[in-house]
Amino acid sequence: MNTTKSEALLARGQKIVPGGVNSPVRAFRGVGGTPRFMARANGARLTDADGNEYIDFIGSWGPMLLGHRHPEVLAAIEDALTIGTSFGAPTEREIELAEEMQDAVPSLEMIRLVNSGTEATMSALRVARGFTGRELTVKFEGCYHGHVDSLLVKAGSGMATLGIADTAGVPKAFADTTFALPYNDVPALERAFAAHGANIAAVILEPVVGNMGCVSPSRSFLDALVSLTKAHGALLVFDEVMTGFRVARGGAQALFGIRPDLSTFGKVIGGGLPIGAYGGRADVMSRVAPVGNVYQAGTLSGNPLAVSAGLAMLRHIRANQGLYDELENKAAALCAGPPKGVTVNRVGSMFTFFFTETPVTDFETAKTCDTARFGRFFHHLLANGVYFPPAQFEAAFLSNAHTAADIEHTRKAIHSFF
Ligand SMILES: *Cc1c(COP(=O)(O)O)cnc(C)c1O
Repeated sequence: MNTTKSEALLARGQKIVPGGVNSPVRAFRGVGGTPRFMARANGARLTDADGNEYIDFIGSWGPMLLGHRHPEVLAAIEDALTIGTSFGAPTEREIELAEEMQDAVPSLEMIRLVNSGTEATMSALRVARGFTGRELTVKFEGCYHGHVDSLLVKAGSGMATLGIADTAGVPKAFADTTFALPYNDVPALERAFAAHGANIAAVILEPVVGNMGCVSPSRSFLDALVSLTKAHGALLVFDEVMTGFRVARGGAQALFGIRPDLSTFGKVIGGGLPIGAYGGRADVMSRVAPVGNVYQAGTLSGNPLAVSAGLAMLRHIRANQGLYDELENKAAALCAGPPKGVTVNRVGSMFTFFFTETPVTDFETAKTCDTARFGRFFHHLLANGVYFPPAQFEAAFLSNAHTAADIEHTRKAIHSFF
């Protein structure tokens, strides 16, 4: 496979952009080799700068539920271009997007739009602290909630891949406001509440984890989260930036029948443009300025292009709710008959091939993976025209644009490695 242009772009990029990339996991540090610079995408296909084609299983890390350049999303963006790209004043479409989200996710009594998932979790926790008058946050090891200072404690995603437990640049005072507990560990959660319950503002989690690879919550863990937060007056925050409109139209909360106090969104709700959102209980969200005294703002928040793309996406989903069954069937076919020595975790169209025989239920068990072997697997797939996440501790994503032939080609590529 010719990668001359990607190599040249990487060399040029590294001189001016740290690592030549604008987000660490793109640099292939978890798997080695040259990151591919992409030239274009269409449907389920990526084409790199050298003209190599790949079946795409990252989908821009989640947003591309309908594949790249979906006609309805493109039409909405084109339409938005005719009215202007940013006003710094409210628009009808922002209200429409919020209403569309609420229709799918009833716990969203009120919603505020922001520009990224990071902003959404940062803001949701600020509101939780403002509402409760408390300072502590509980998170879980291996969960990633964006690069919010106080949440970069034992985080997943690129932090896990690069083996960074605690990033430089976060004041100790911020990190000290966060407890990181093992995922799915009910006794650890009970102990944290027994010791600090009166000071815990919020518990935030990925309700299906994608950022240590795909990991499901146990029923007892979910039940404990609900009962302990309720008993101690802490808010339960579902970070659905990845799972929202991905694992179900109503997100993981619909899948598990839970009504969190607050939720955060991003990825799918922007149809591939930058967006984020947080929302939940009206009494909590009423604390956000200008109604309340928790300040949060954004020059480009509710940007017309992103809002229009997201609205087209969510309307398409509402009109085609069978797409989740299709995604389920395609993903199930892809993951059927897991290879020996590999643990495959999957929830709907999110999945991970963990290179370990140990069942993966938390960050400790995820770390039992043979990451060097995963790297060889990744490059084997890449050479066969299949683009998987370039790191063991990430989820892969299927889109509605993947065809039965794509799935069959990928299945063969996967099994020919073993
Ligand atoms: C991607 C992600 C974020 C961060 O979103 P950005 O838009 O990258 O800032 C937060 N939480 C979860 C669960 C994510 O998957």
